[in-house]
Amino acid sequence: MVSDAELPYLRRCVELATQALDAGDEPFGSVLVGADGAVLAEDHNRVASGDRTRHPEFELARWSAAHLSPEQRAAATVYTSGEHCPMCAAAHAWVGLGRIVYVASSEQLTSWLTELGVPPPPVRTLPINEVAPGVAVTGPVPELTEEVRTLHRRYYRTRA
Ligand SMILES: [Zn+2]
Repeated sequence: MVSDAELPYLRRCVELATQALDAGDEPFGSVLVGADGAVLAEDHNRVASGDRTRHPEFELARWSAAHLSPEQRAAATVYTSGEHCPMCAAAHAWVGLGRIVYVASSEQLTSWLTELGVPPPPVRTLPINEVAPGVAVTGPVPELTEEVRTLHRRYYRTRA
């Protein structure tokens, strides 16, 4: 369950995903929030540079390892527009971050991209808990799912 107090973080993720799209990148955005509700860091996808590991969830995991104590990381939440991929789920678990809340699931994204005729990614799509069984995960969040879907449609339409 997502509380009303959490929706603004998810809306910010969608905003960041929109910024990524406007910058010619894939529309993904993520926000790292501390135990007190303060936004600690945020990022969006930066794979257009050619480095396809530049996912925001991966960047936030590394940022948290550099800037937060293990206790702060465990108490933090990562909000994200799309469910972590296996690489990001692994990084999240390795640095000991807390809960994850995502708008759209990997399963949803896969079905949208298949509909759009996008070739499958080189890494298998797995639910976060298949990769990181100890992480508390909430999602999808139906209030915002359609907005995220629209961003992905826009991204691939401009490339068709
Ligand atoms: Zn990822």
